[in-house]
Amino acid sequence: MVLEDYRRKRRFHVTGEPAGDAPVRRRPIKALAYVIQKHRASHLHYDFRLEWNGVMLSWAVPKGPSLDPSVKRLATPVEDHPLEYADFEGVIPPGEYGAGTVMVWDKGTWVPEVPDVDDAMRKGELKFTLRGKKLRGSWVLVRTRGFGRSPRPSWLLVKHRDRYAASADITVEAPRSVLSNRLLADIAREEGGDVALAASGDP
Ligand code: MN
Repeated sequence: MVLEDYRRKRRFHVTGEPAGDAPVRRRPIKALAYVIQKHRASHLHYDFRLEWNGVMLSWAVPKGPSLDPSVKRLATPVEDHPLEYADFEGVIPPGEYGAGTVMVWDKGTWVPEVPDVDDAMRKGELKFTLRGKKLRGSWVLVRTRGFGRSPRPSWLLVKHRDRYAASADITVEAPRSVLSNRLLADIAREEGGDVALAASGDP
């Protein structure tokens, strides 16, 4: 069932995250949503999400994206999230799944560069264009065999060479929320989170 993993892990009377029960609107012409949420949970990571088939396909990227085409960033698949999750910024309470501070780090739309997204996902190579506020241009997510002892396949997030490629570290240069211009520590302070822990995820 769609979003079953997502809902099983969360208690919606405790966390402020969306339950994902809003009706999915299927409009004939609609840009596909893209979001990256910076998440200071037990480990800092960037949740990379692409709208597809009424959900947000999701990967956790520990180091965040790199604009340098020679840098491959590990992207671990995680459960599909509801579309309305793309606007979630705030604090997930202690003891809950993913407890910590969440920031909308980048947001916009994406365009597949492949004729068949489902087929590309099955084959493990999805090429796409991002139209975000921080990330733009051509990217690829490519599946590899698992790393180390992990039998789970991993993916790599890689920038393609184009005019948006750069050597600057975008995670350091642009650390603030695209929704509220806040740092992680600001979000934690204003929404009752662990400020010191959140601050450890700010540059
Ligand atoms: Mn996360």
